[in-house]
Amino acid sequence: MTKFVYTFGGKTAEGRADMKNLLGGKGANLAEMCLLGLPVPAGLTITTECCTAYYENNCQLPAGLMDDVWKAMANVEKLMGMKYDDAENPLLVSCRSGARSSMPGMMDTVLNIGLSSKTIPGMLKRTNNPRFVYDSYRRLIMMYADVVMEKSEGIEPADGKGIRKQLDDMLDDYKAQHNYKSDTELTAEDLMKLSDAFKIKVKEVLGTEFPDDAKAQMEGGIKAVFKSWNGKKAVSYRKIEGIPDDWGTAVNVQAMVFGNMGDNSATGVAFTRNPATGDNQFYGEWLINAQGEDVVAGIRTPNPLNDDTKNEQNKHMKSMQELMPETYKELCDIREILEKNFHDMLDIEFTIQDGKLYMLQCRVGKRTGVAAITMAADMLKEGLIDDQEVVMRISPAQLDELLHPILDTTDEKNHPVIAKGLPAGPGGAVGRIALTNDKAKEYHVNGIKNILVREETNPEDVEGMRAADGILTARGGMTSHAALVARGWGKCCIVGCEAVKIDFETGTVHIGDRTFKEGDLLSLNGTKGWVYDEEVKMIDATENPLFKQFMQIVDKYRTMGVRTNADNPEDALKAVSFGAEGIGLFRIEHMFYGKNSEKPLEKLRNMILSDTTEERIAALAELEPYIKESAKSTLKVMDGKPLTFRLMDPPLHEFVPQTEGKQRAAAQERGMSFEELKRRVDALHEVNPMMGLRGVRLGIIYPEITETQFRALFSATCELIKEGHDPHLEIMVPLTINARELHHQKSIADRVKQEVMAKYGVSFNYLYGTMIEIPRAALVADQIADVAEFFSFGTNDLTQMTYGFSRDDVNAIVHKYVDEKVIPADPFNTFDQECVGQLVDLGVKRGRSTRPNLKCGVCGEHGGDPASVEFFYHVGLNYVSCSPFRVPVARLAAAQAAIKDARSHK
Ligand code: PEP
Ligand code: MG
Repeated sequence: MTKFVYTFGGKTAEGRADMKNLLGGKGANLAEMCLLGLPVPAGLTITTECCTAYYENNCQLPAGLMDDVWKAMANVEKLMGMKYDDAENPLLVSCRSGARSSMPGMMDTVLNIGLSSKTIPGMLKRTNNPRFVYDSYRRLIMMYADVVMEKSEGIEPADGKGIRKQLDDMLDDYKAQHNYKSDTELTAEDLMKLSDAFKIKVKEVLGTEFPDDAKAQMEGGIKAVFKSWNGKKAVSYRKIEGIPDDWGTAVNVQAMVFGNMGDNSATGVAFTRNPATGDNQFYGEWLINAQGEDVVAGIRTPNPLNDDTKNEQNKHMKSMQELMPETYKELCDIREILEKNFHDMLDIEFTIQDGKLYMLQCRVGKRTGVAAITMAADMLKEGLIDDQEVVMRISPAQLDELLHPILDTTDEKNHPVIAKGLPAGPGGAVGRIALTNDKAKEYHVNGIKNILVREETNPEDVEGMRAADGILTARGGMTSHAALVARGWGKCCIVGCEAVKIDFETGTVHIGDRTFKEGDLLSLNGTKGWVYDEEVKMIDATENPLFKQFMQIVDKYRTMGVRTNADNPEDALKAVSFGAEGIGLFRIEHMFYGKNSEKPLEKLRNMILSDTTEERIAALAELEPYIKESAKSTLKVMDGKPLTFRLMDPPLHEFVPQTEGKQRAAAQERGMSFEELKRRVDALHEVNPMMGLRGVRLGIIYPEITETQFRALFSATCELIKEGHDPHLEIMVPLTINARELHHQKSIADRVKQEVMAKYGVSFNYLYGTMIEIPRAALVADQIADVAEFFSFGTNDLTQMTYGFSRDDVNAIVHKYVDEKVIPADPFNTFDQECVGQLVDLGVKRGRSTRPNLKCGVCGEHGGDPASVEFFYHVGLNYVSCSPFRVPVARLAAAQAAIKDARSHK
């Protein structure tokens, strides 16, 4: 029999922190906290394997599971000194989800399970607090009806108004009838009446009775948590975060402790260090006389935990440090024990019941990129972690976030701050106001920067939050779900900005005394929590000294080289400032796009439209100086570093005029008839240009094109040497299928090299290599390596040619394939290690069988993707080459791959 249930409580546990895959993050850490001797209410964890079994079993709990639950509950009862479903001294439990990796607020929770007409009298006796008992009861009915009876049953509410909302409306009506302003004015009798009315409403709307049986409630709660793994929010969150669907969630059933038993009770959430800045300060929020969800749901703006947590918005509110100094001290001690044990910053949840502190959860806390780097540097100094661990602590995505722009502080001074909120997610954002998730998504799809403005933070909004460039909410604290999620994504986010009032009827937002419509511009400084009503300039944040220090440690462990794909001096210099060690791909034809391209483009067009070799040679002679200058300027800034030029691989059809008007103009410029020009353009037409006259084929059919390029590159090199520079020239041939193509082009190169050296009176060396972009080339890599001195895998084309997916046309099909789960991901974004990977591996092995020191790199878009970088490390590539902004991420991914590798051999 598989063991599905693990107990914890009373300073002992069957689980441990390293059992996350089985017990989920929450279950494993509850067990660990028990083992550390911390005060944790006793409970049990049902494993993630049980969730998988539940789904495999057509959404039925495995046979015997509930028996195991009741056995484990006997242990909980003993430890807590109470009995579940007991009329005298009843124990209540919570039922919570807990996946391997945290998914804040995405799955469901039911609290106060076990209250029934049988147990209520016992609770009344035990607490002597009828208001509290009936308040707990009406909360149970609301949560249970919503989570267990409606959502998990897949009931779609008519007109979109779910049972929870309907019950909430009843509560509001009741308060209005009695002239109550807040929930606290409701008396025990009111709550009792409301509970009865709720039960009638539940039956009326959902067709079944709210179960007046503690045992049935327990089973319903467990099943509902399993079901919530496949709820809409959870599924979209997993998709965004790349969490596999088959991991499943664990269920934690834990004895309830109450933070809402009066003014000596409270509940709170804290981070052992500041998750936004990384400062080594205990950071948290709490609410007196409240239940846990009140803090994270963002409904009430909570009080600061301590002085360090006070800010403009909450400085007038009392902290736990002030009101409960002894319990605060106990919590500070726990903070230290936890950090020493986990060697990391933790996010904790606690409850104080009648003055006694209980720990309800701890997990490694989400943090911004800035905070991650700051904490890692501090923990290194404190001796909590070593420098390898420093490298492992920052995810490539967090590093990427550090490279993201912030508002320009000088320009900020030119704009008035119109409101202040809590700085929940750092960086800056400028965009148009979106009041709904759909609007944010619509803006995003159309490439329009946008700020999602909401009343409160709500996990239902994940997709809108993802689509937004910045998030601004009126309510909620730093630990609200939206803040956690935004921070995890490195998204600029301000919460608890009380000046914001949304008027949905008119579709307007009031911020202080200003009124905005959807579509109006706002700027956010998420690091400070400041809102501006105009466009503030943005700058990038790479000058951060911590970033530089961190990258030095990264390079200590990195063994694989990182180059960049760049075709002009500006991009090349940017990449070098990010740590690029050379250029892995200089696409010569890029000089025909963008700035200053008119003249060379005109020459290229003449070359393409030539009808005879003589015409072509004449056109090429005019083009050559442009190629030479373009090559020379970048070779110059890369002095001493290798630069790989790729011979032209232009999609010819893109460079000729297509419309009649443009063709007529081009004909006139060239002094030829429109009909003649059209004939030449039509002759270039290919059905599959991606598989047609491209790459080396162009140089075989028209050797004069190759000759011109070699002459330009060699001349640039000779001139630079004469000027005292140190150019490291590498030239590669694209789209090769066999060694003969390379020999053919090489013989041209050899001849031209002699001519150029003689002309300049300078001798030089260069490397002659090829791209491997066609499966055939990978298969005959041993023959190709006979002539090629290096390989660069062009994984864009290699993916295209392996899948038979046209890079130009296949987007819509690929997206549909991904949606239908026919393929796991777009192979042009996420490298297909399974098949394209085999070709790379094989190409490297066969190539090196001929030439053991063959230098191998990759220059397709995958060169900057962290998971792909790890793969390239394992197949033994010498370097990856990626766009300038991805260089730091590739360096980090390469170092992490080396560290993981070394650790796995220990
Ligand atoms: C490739 O195919 O991976 C490559 C780098 O070349 P291009 O994208 O220019 O075809
Ligand atoms: Mg290519």
